[in-house]
Amino acid sequence: MTTLSENLATIQQQITAAQTRFQAAQTVTLCAVSKTQSAEVIRAAYAAGQTVFGENYVQEALQKQADLEDCAIAWHFIGPIQSNKTQPIARHFDWVHSVDRLKIAQRLSDARPPERGPLNICLQVNISEEQSKSGASGDELLELALNIKQLPNLQLRGLMAIPAPCHTFEEQRDQFRQVRALFDHLNAQGLQLDTLSIGMSNDFAAAIAEGATLVRIGTAIFGARVRVTPSDSATKGP
Ligand SMILES: *Cc1c(COP(=O)(O)O)cnc(C)c1O
Repeated sequence: MTTLSENLATIQQQITAAQTRFQAAQTVTLCAVSKTQSAEVIRAAYAAGQTVFGENYVQEALQKQADLEDCAIAWHFIGPIQSNKTQPIARHFDWVHSVDRLKIAQRLSDARPPERGPLNICLQVNISEEQSKSGASGDELLELALNIKQLPNLQLRGLMAIPAPCHTFEEQRDQFRQVRALFDHLNAQGLQLDTLSIGMSNDFAAAIAEGATLVRIGTAIFGARVRVTPSDSATKGP
């Protein structure tokens, strides 16, 4: 597993380099996106010092969490949320990044065991306005955020976005700048958000330049994923 620990070290160096280059003073958390990766691979990354992991598919994640119960891992749910999966998500994750409607937030709050403390929430925002992509639009964001802030077992922490793929660094920055503007707008309204979850393997430097506090990186750490159908019934790893 030398390669895995080398990849993690390289990404950390690239994060630091981007912070220096763009004078980005914020702390940047690396979330290792481990969808389709086995529990053994996650354990190796954990042994190399990585403690924050992101998962997209509920059934796949629950199995790996059970195998890794002895590890002090912070589990982030970053995939699309079906309303019939809110209960296991609320029980077994520390963070959820992909909340884009009130009904899902209410179900997560209802299902969160209070003794686990509030579930950390990021609202997913759709800045590319593509109908195929999930995420709340900028217009509905403030009302959604104010409503979610009222829910007892959730803590609203920030925004998440997955922009449409861009060709140039400047185009990437333009998209992330729009997310940052929404984030600043919500904070100007008193929301007290501290998390901007933007940036993946191909665009995390641009995201850091625009204020990312958490980057979600899979491929650059674990290598290319074997393609799986995005469904809980077809999530066998390579
Ligand atoms: C898969 C995924 C990532 C990681 O993407 P890479 O390009 O492999 O780094 C990040 N965020 C979300 C929401 C994902 O689904």
